[in-house]
Amino acid sequence: MPRIVLASSNPGKLREFGALLADSGFEIVTQGSLGIEDADETGLTFVENALLKARHAAQASGLPALADDSGLCVDHLHGAPGLYSARYSGNHGDAQANNAKLLRAMEGVPEARRGAFFIGVLVLLRHPEDPAPFIAEGRWHGRILTEGRGTGGFGYNPVFLPDGYEQSVAEMDDDLKNRLSHRGQALALLREQIRARGL
Ligand code: IMP
Repeated sequence: MPRIVLASSNPGKLREFGALLADSGFEIVTQGSLGIEDADETGLTFVENALLKARHAAQASGLPALADDSGLCVDHLHGAPGLYSARYSGNHGDAQANNAKLLRAMEGVPEARRGAFFIGVLVLLRHPEDPAPFIAEGRWHGRILTEGRGTGGFGYNPVFLPDGYEQSVAEMDDDLKNRLSHRGQALALLREQIRARGL
């Protein structure tokens, strides 16, 4: 079966993207399983970083490559934590410290100015020189709470209240979150592109 390399070693992402490509006739493998190191994320936007990661994986493997990049952008903070979402507090992946820093930065900001969105970008390159990659973006709008609520999921889930809902993302069940989220939206759009154009 032809293979696609996933520019991530995260098993959660392998599951999600495996489902995306389930009927495509392609097998999905992580770059880690092929001994490929992470790319340097030197872009200034999510789409640039997703492209850099996908191109690096395609070049190193000789296979088509899929990459994603995501984060949280807060209006009042001019888009921060943005590209630095995973390491906003200085410690990569320390969600508790990241949330504490964000809540401090938003202290005293009135409700009407607490708007924010999660963004997720997916890029699929058919080969390293592919001039027309598939690109899909999802955005999930809401606002930043004044204190964390709930324990589900990861990252900024406890401090994000999606528009139209009374629960933080950390209080939602996985099914609901996956239907609404930036990643869910981007996956649905990419699936549609693959269905319409073929790989
Ligand atoms: P990455 O694209 O997987 O590296 O994610 C970047 C960072 O954005 C994560 O470490 C989280 O801090 C944040 N983030 C992205 N998506 C979500 C989400 O669905 N919930 C909470 N935090 C998220």
